[in-house]
Amino acid sequence: MFTPENLRKTLELFNEKIQIKKDYLSELDTPIGDGDHGNNMARGMDAVMAADLSGDLPAIFKATAMALISKVGGASGPLYGTAMMEMMKASKDSNDPEMLLKAAVAGIEKRGNSTAGEKTMLDLWVPAVENLNNGTLNPATIEILVEKTKNMKATKGRASYLGERSIGHIDPGAMSSAYLFESMIEAGV
Ligand code: ADP
Ligand code: MG
Ligand code: MG
Repeated sequence: MFTPENLRKTLELFNEKIQIKKDYLSELDTPIGDGDHGNNMARGMDAVMAADLSGDLPAIFKATAMALISKVGGASGPLYGTAMMEMMKASKDSNDPEMLLKAAVAGIEKRGNSTAGEKTMLDLWVPAVENLNNGTLNPATIEILVEKTKNMKATKGRASYLGERSIGHIDPGAMSSAYLFESMIEAGV
């Protein structure tokens, strides 16, 4: 279950991973995008860390959403922001990770007009939430999900401009999302 404490811990761990992997995420975004995903996420997480993360679950999700929406930019900013905003709404009635993350997925799908299988962050989020439900979400299964994006052809986002040539590269947004799910596990959500 989500608590204000483990959510704050999740965000701290996510920030650490994003800052450490900033260059790697931008490198992943270079062959199939514009090379800025690590910088976008690092700027956004700096803002999250500078935000007031006190208060209850909805307050923390809201502060996170606002920081990400205003600072990440690109395609991923509004998508991560929407995910956090939907978790904010869902956390008013529940602290069940499955419920909150399902609401986040629905928000990303709506905002991105996208679905799993299109080589985006949803190829991490959708199966990761399924794994969470059946108790198989762990660093090893998360790694497998990231690797699976390699052989997918992008049909959404900048990578879709490359068509077949998008095949053979990990999706940067799936990689950053993997860090978020790893952070949740480490924080004991
Ligand atoms: P930009 O492409 O605008 O530079 P980023 O590089 O920060 O933005 O983020 C790119 C990531 O955003 C992709 O790797 C992908 O995971 C995700 N993404 C892009 N478009 C969509 C979409 N329509 N639905 C879901 N995720 C998307
Ligand atoms: Mg980019
Ligand atoms: Mg960009």
